Amino acid sequence: MQPSKKIDILISGASIAGLTTAYWLIKYGFNVTVVERASHIRAGGQALDVRGPALEVAEKMGILNALKTNSTKLTGMSMVDAATGEETYRNTEQTLTGGRLDSNDVEILRDDLCQILLDGVGNNARFLFNNSIVSIDQDSLGANVVFTNAPQQRFYLVIGADGLRSNVRKLVFGKDKEFVKYLGHYVAIFTMPNFLGLDRWEVFYQHEGIPIAACIAKEKESDIRAYLGFETPEAINYDYRNTIAQKDLVAERTPQVGNVLPQIVRYMYEADNFYFDSVNQVIMDSWSKGLVTLVGDAGYSVSVSLGQGTTVAMVGGYVLASELAAQTNDISKALQCYEELLRDYVINNQKLAYESRSEPAVEDYDSTDVRDLGQSVVPFTFKNYTEIV
Ligand SMILES: Cc1cc2nc3c(=O)[nH]c(=O)nc-3n(C[C@H](O)[C@H](O)[C@H](O)COP(=O)(O)OP(=O)(O)OC[C@H]3O[C@@H](n4cnc5c(N)ncnc54)[C@H](O)[C@@H]3O)c2cc1C
Repeated sequence: MQPSKKIDILISGASIAGLTTAYWLIKYGFNVTVVERASHIRAGGQALDVRGPALEVAEKMGILNALKTNSTKLTGMSMVDAATGEETYRNTEQTLTGGRLDSNDVEILRDDLCQILLDGVGNNARFLFNNSIVSIDQDSLGANVVFTNAPQQRFYLVIGADGLRSNVRKLVFGKDKEFVKYLGHYVAIFTMPNFLGLDRWEVFYQHEGIPIAACIAKEKESDIRAYLGFETPEAINYDYRNTIAQKDLVAERTPQVGNVLPQIVRYMYEADNFYFDSVNQVIMDSWSKGLVTLVGDAGYSVSVSLGQGTTVAMVGGYVLASELAAQTNDISKALQCYEELLRDYVINNQKLAYESRSEPAVEDYDSTDVRDLGQSVVPFTFKNYTEIV
C-alpha cells in the first residue's frame, strides 16, 4: 500500500462493481468508504459469468482460484415443455447461461462472487450498510455528502456503483428515463427449495416455444436459483418499492400450465430475496461529472442478456481505480482516461447484448445451435499498471 494517496473516496453500492473498485483503490492506498442500501451485501441473483478480461482482473486480485472453487460446476442443461413435463432437449457439453463446460470462464452464483469480493476488501474499507446518499454537493475540491443514516462527510471523489437504478446517477446526472433503455423483457430472480432435485444442473421450462423459467442448482442439497421472465413491448408502470405488487405482476404473466410453473410461482411469493426489473441498457454520453463518476451497471449496464455485465463491471472497476492511482494529482484527467480506455469496449458489449436480446424459439434448438455465451467475450487489452502498486 502507498500511504501517500490518503484521499477519501466514497463508493455507493457494495456489489460487483463497487467491491472490485474498492479492492483496487485500497490496494493503491486510498481511503475508501462504501455505502450500501442493504443491511449487508445485497443477497440474491442467479449465476453470473466471469469471462475473458475479468478473469485477468480476478487473477490480479488473487481470487481466481476462489472463483473456480465456488463456481456452479454445472454438468449440463435441459429444456422441458412446461405443459407436458416432457424433456425436449438435453446438452451435457454446454449450458445456455454459462457456455461450454470445458471453457476457462467461471459461472458463479452472484452471492458467492459478492462474498469473495467482500472478503478481498476485508476490514480495509469503512462500510455504511442500511444507508444511502441523500445529496451530493460538489465543488472543485470535493463533495459534501449527506446520508440517510450517518453524519455528513466530505469526500474527494464519489463513485456510483449502485446498479441499473443508480441513486448517484439520479442525484447528479438526471432521471432514469434519460439513460435507461428498455429492451422488451422483465425478469424476476429468487431462491426456492430444490423441489426438482436438480444436481449441478440447469433446466429451462418453456411454453409454446417461449422460455418462461430457468432453474439452477449447484447440488442436490442446495436451493434452486430461479428465474421467471416475460416479454412485453412497452415498459410497465409499477411501484419499485411494492414487492407484493411486483410478484403479482410476474404471477399474472406466467402461464399456469403443468405442475412446475404454478409451484415456482408459489415459491416466488415465499422468497425473501426477490429481485425484479426490466432488462435494460444504460447509455450515457459521459460517466463523469466533476468529482462524481459511475462504474458498472450504474454507468453502462450491458443488460442481463449474454451475461456480460459482471465481466464489464469488474474490468471497469479495475481500470477506474488504476487510472485514479496513476494520476492522483489530476483526477479529472484520470476520469477522462477511464472513459477513453473503456468506451469502445462497453459499446461493443452493449451492441452484442442488444443484438442477442431475442433468443430463438426453443423448438428451434438442436444440439448444434444452443448459443455458446462464452463466444461473446469482447477482448480488452489492459494498460500495464504494475508500477503503481
Ligand atoms: C439482487 C440482484 C440480483 C441480480 N441477479 C442477476 C442475475 O441473476 N443475472 C445477471 O446477469 N445479473 C444479475 N444482477 C445484476 C448484476 O449483478 C450486474 O449486472 C453486474 O454484476 C454488474 O454489477 P454492479 O455492481 O454494477 O450492479 P449490481 O450488482 O446491481 O449492484 C448494485 C448495488 O448497489 C446497491 N444499491 C442500490 N441502490 C443503492 C443506494 N441508493 N445506496 C447504496 N447502495 C445501493 C445494491 O443493493 C447493490 O448492492 C443482479 C443484481 C442484483 C442487485
